[in-house]
Amino acid sequence: MPERFPKMDFTLGELAAFDYRETAFRVLRLFLTDFTDAEIRAAVDSAYDGKFATDSRGLRRELSSDVAPLTSAAGLRFLELYHGPTLAFKDMALSILPRLMRLAAAKRGVSKRVMILTATSGDTGKAALAGFAGAEGVDIAVFYPSEGVSPAQKLQMTTQEGGNVAVAGIIGNFDDAQTGVKALFTDPDFVAEMSGRGYAFSSANSINIGRLVPQVAYYFHAYAEMCRAGALSPGERLGFTVPTGNFGNILAAYYAGRIGLPIGKLVCASNSNKVLFDYFKTGEYNTNRVFTPTASPSMDILVSSNFERYLYHKTGSAEAVRAAMGGLGAEGRYVLPDSGEVFFGEYATEPETFAAIRDVFGGGALIDPHTAVAVHACREYRAETGDDTPNVIVATASPFKFAASVLEAVTGAAPEVSGVSGAIEELSRVTGVPAPASLLELQGKRVLHPDVIEKDGMEAFVRAFASRRNY
Ligand SMILES: *Cc1c(COP(=O)(O)O)cnc(C)c1O
Repeated sequence: MPERFPKMDFTLGELAAFDYRETAFRVLRLFLTDFTDAEIRAAVDSAYDGKFATDSRGLRRELSSDVAPLTSAAGLRFLELYHGPTLAFKDMALSILPRLMRLAAAKRGVSKRVMILTATSGDTGKAALAGFAGAEGVDIAVFYPSEGVSPAQKLQMTTQEGGNVAVAGIIGNFDDAQTGVKALFTDPDFVAEMSGRGYAFSSANSINIGRLVPQVAYYFHAYAEMCRAGALSPGERLGFTVPTGNFGNILAAYYAGRIGLPIGKLVCASNSNKVLFDYFKTGEYNTNRVFTPTASPSMDILVSSNFERYLYHKTGSAEAVRAAMGGLGAEGRYVLPDSGEVFFGEYATEPETFAAIRDVFGGGALIDPHTAVAVHACREYRAETGDDTPNVIVATASPFKFAASVLEAVTGAAPEVSGVSGAIEELSRVTGVPAPASLLELQGKRVLHPDVIEKDGMEAFVRAFASRRNY
């Protein structure tokens, strides 16, 4: 948690002239007051470089303003956050987190080796592996739901190279993986045992504030891009629609508002696992329901970890949050109504998601199922409320990571192709949009992490990994 919200110390007029790196630098330094400007600038410069230049054609772009391009299609605006090395928005934070951690560890005099435990609904895992593979003084273990990620997401993780990485599928869903990781962090015996081996724990999930703060930057960047496009004047409000799972991405938008960006409504877009939609409608957060696998697996989440942070910001009461979380633990529900001032819940069913992909493709852009959920939500929100404030849809992943679903949406029929590359190549052929090279290469890679374990086997898996690493 930030102890308090800083205030932006640049004007919106100045912001409109910043490139991505300058924006990130200006936003990060507001929160990371223990770091020097030179340290933050160096971290930003080495994170948001050429590796963020992958467009859907797999080409490298030159300009750093293309780190997160603002595009438009079908009468909608998109902030494309998937041009990093692993083709999902998680790269925006996970490419800089390892550098921030290294700086923090040095400042705090941490001499222990860091064991990073990560639960993933598909995209965080690969982005964290890419960020931390080969990092000095760090080992990383990633747990994904073995049947709950797309074939491309799974292969991205299971083929990851590097001596300091371990990956396991668990028999269970994302909530099981996240609960399991949190249980290990808070198990005093296991923490002591790992400490005895020279390890301190950390997380690459959005419970780590180092994930959230870099994400605040791209909301400022979107605002600047809108001004540059002539679609907004400095000072006017800008809303966002965010495809939401763990509530990290949209919470970063809320933080942007708290530190001074004139945000409009934040439309919280859910898929069929619409706990948050129901919460914003009724004031009751209730996880007592069937977990539904969807075509947008990275949002198949019932317990949104960062919602706890929001509850604290809105109530200002640790007591109230503790009571709510107590209710969640004991009964899977709590009641704590929201004012509706900032957030508005919407959701898309599977047919609505597929229809949105098809429609936006007709309008000139190929989007992934998560982004499509947001498209539907944005349109519903506008139709229901009549709010015509400019609204930017946050595009969170490359459509090629979910090629089979996108292909089905575009062609209207389930694809008859086999293998990860089959669907990717077919999607490229049908749409004329070249596929990212890093995904095409997956098929030929060796699976280095075949493990699938029971959800109560996570502790043993981490112990065995630590032994292998010989610490
Ligand atoms: C992680 C993810 C989301 C959900 O983001 P949260 O910060 O967990 O709410 C949405 N779309 C994609 C593609 C993702 O990888």
